[in-house]
Amino acid sequence: MIQTVDPDVIVIGGGPAGSTAATLLAQVGHRVHLFERETFPRFHIGESLIPCTYEVFARTGLLARLKDSHFVKKYSVQFVSDTGKVSAPFFFTQYKPVESSQTWQVRRADFDLMLLDHAKESGVQVFEKHRVLEALFEGDQCVGVRVQNETTGEERTVRAKVVIDGSGQSSVLIDRLKLRQWDEELKKAAVWTYFKNAWRDDGENGGATSVIQTEGKRGWFWYIPLHDNITSVGVVSDYTHLFKNRTKDLGELFAEEVDRCPGVKARIEGAERCDQFRAAKEYSYRAKQAAGNGWVLVGDAYGFLDPLYSSGVLLAVKSGSLAADAVHQGLTTGDLTQTTLGAWEPEYVLGMERMRKLVVAYYKGMNFGKLIMKHPETKNDITDLLMGDLFRAELDITLEKVDAMLQEMPEQPAMA
Ligand SMILES: Cc1cc2nc3c(=O)[nH]c(=O)nc-3n(C[C@H](O)[C@H](O)[C@H](O)COP(=O)(O)OP(=O)(O)OC[C@H]3O[C@@H](n4cnc5c(N)ncnc54)[C@H](O)[C@@H]3O)c2cc1C
Repeated sequence: MIQTVDPDVIVIGGGPAGSTAATLLAQVGHRVHLFERETFPRFHIGESLIPCTYEVFARTGLLARLKDSHFVKKYSVQFVSDTGKVSAPFFFTQYKPVESSQTWQVRRADFDLMLLDHAKESGVQVFEKHRVLEALFEGDQCVGVRVQNETTGEERTVRAKVVIDGSGQSSVLIDRLKLRQWDEELKKAAVWTYFKNAWRDDGENGGATSVIQTEGKRGWFWYIPLHDNITSVGVVSDYTHLFKNRTKDLGELFAEEVDRCPGVKARIEGAERCDQFRAAKEYSYRAKQAAGNGWVLVGDAYGFLDPLYSSGVLLAVKSGSLAADAVHQGLTTGDLTQTTLGAWEPEYVLGMERMRKLVVAYYKGMNFGKLIMKHPETKNDITDLLMGDLFRAELDITLEKVDAMLQEMPEQPAMA
């Protein structure tokens, strides 16, 4: 139904970032319209959560639903070497025996639907099958969007005081405003699919995310157990290694990489593939700025970091919640300038950078076990970072030790 009253806030995209921002703003009484081009449930990659998402879910009021859900509980992560040698599982729950140390492995179709339903119940007016064609500006002030109803083809203009862009990697604003900066050190790509009845560990480690290196450390597989006995299995490697002078057939490519990865090969032997092959290419980037006058970028629409440590959904919901606070402040005071709407950016960038350092260190061949042997005092910080506790300046002392160890390491070809 077409609304005649303009909203205070328009949110583009109903993924975790957009839903979170929209929910929090509606919960404090703002009129929020969310436009989503798809109809949910819809497929999305990004299935393994990390523990620090808990804090945002507690804030939006989603925890009870997650606890009641059919999602696989994730208590641990595990690393497997290129020869198939399995490290002891690392249990977040043993390191910090609190409720928030357990998280979930989610099928994003179901998870994102849960978040969007929660947004609706919180008062957000959600328009599915509505694609935002462009953001509208008067001078440098964003004043609304032009949106198309994908069912009827009808186009209309909707005005608002603030536009929050949560439209993911295809971000409506980032390219229009020429803000995208690719991460030259992380030119990676991924190919993945799903298996039924693949191997699973017993007990609580059955829900672990495994990171399994391929031969010669050219790349790594994620191995994520989902509900209904489905496992998400994907390989990440250097873009050129995966896609230059190789077969164009994703299935053949995937099979070749499985042949190079004893750890994964053994785990999917006898399992049945139950979905198509999919790919993502060269995906790490960050915008030059997170906000301007009347607009804000959240989640992947602002920036995306390699999925090695499963930080994407955390960063999406965290930026959604930080941006919601800034927008609330702006709407309350009438100050909708870049300064107010982007007040959260510096702290957020530092957090993203902390995770990026660990990602780059892994690709450079850094052994975190050795770091911890040399500097036992870093163990807690490394663990906190991997759980997603990224927004504390004290952690930088440990990251300096990571840098120092990388400097000391003999020059070696970076892991693809
Ligand atoms: C290979 C790979 C593996 C990953 N693995 C993990 C993982 O294990 N764990 C993890 O946490 N993260 C992972 N991620 C990252 C995760 O997928 C993203 O970080 C996360 O989905 C970002 O959420 P978002 O809300 O910002 O964007 P999205 O989830 O992409 O949501 C954006 C929404 O906007 C909609 N939209 C887009 N354009 C428009 C438009 N013009 N108008 C209206 N609607 C629009 C889209 O339909 C979509 O629903 C992975 C990513 C990749 C590429």
